[in-house]
Amino acid sequence: MKRTAVRRRVARVLSKRAAVVSATPNLRAEIVAIGQRMSASGLSPGKSGNLSLRVDGGMLITPTGIPYQEMKSADIVEVRLDGRVAPGQRVASSEWRIHLAIYKARPDVGAIVHTHSLNATALTCLHRGIPAFHYMVAEFGGDRVACAPYATYGSEELSRFALKALGPRHACLLANHGAIAVGETLRQAYDRAAAVEALAAQYARALAIGRPRILSGREMARVIEKFKTYGKQTEVKAK
Ligand code: 13P
Ligand code: ZN
Repeated sequence: MKRTAVRRRVARVLSKRAAVVSATPNLRAEIVAIGQRMSASGLSPGKSGNLSLRVDGGMLITPTGIPYQEMKSADIVEVRLDGRVAPGQRVASSEWRIHLAIYKARPDVGAIVHTHSLNATALTCLHRGIPAFHYMVAEFGGDRVACAPYATYGSEELSRFALKALGPRHACLLANHGAIAVGETLRQAYDRAAAVEALAAQYARALAIGRPRILSGREMARVIEKFKTYGKQTEVKAK
């Protein structure tokens, strides 16, 4: 190819890229802001974890290996539903397969947060999920937060294991690795990632002092039912 043709092609790619970036500025900024909060709060140490948001025809996801405090909106990568990434972008998070698999399987999910939070990760090193040791497990849409078997980070196998462990719930753990939380919004997914960590800390403490009593399936079914309306009735109804 002649040099002018190459130049024209590069310019075309860059202008396409600029159009994609400018079409989603607020969403990109939101991912960066929540990523920085996740990092500053200690929920995911160093450059561990990743975040994504569903967009038309694909997702926006954090780039691989870039520290959250240095991350800019333009570093966020757009990945299409078929896994393709337009040229001129950063390299997407190594866990893009998990994120994409969840968006494809769960139309209710609009955002995903993956952390290596301390207590949740400690449990995963024992290949332990979080059972109904506390009624708040119901916050994650079921009677447990399951732990997926171990597979290499970034692998297709891990994305299959993660999807299965997540099931219809809002969170799951990944053996010898960390946690995943999903939500309709990034804020909700982030809050759930923090809630998984809090619950994991309570469970780890209970395990350290004895054998936690697990609530029955019947009791958990009752709690799950109550949770469907929990926090949604904010006013006292007139008699
Ligand atoms: P990335 O920087 O590629 O997102 O990797 C972090 C991580 O947690 C891998 O599981
Ligand atoms: Zn990870």
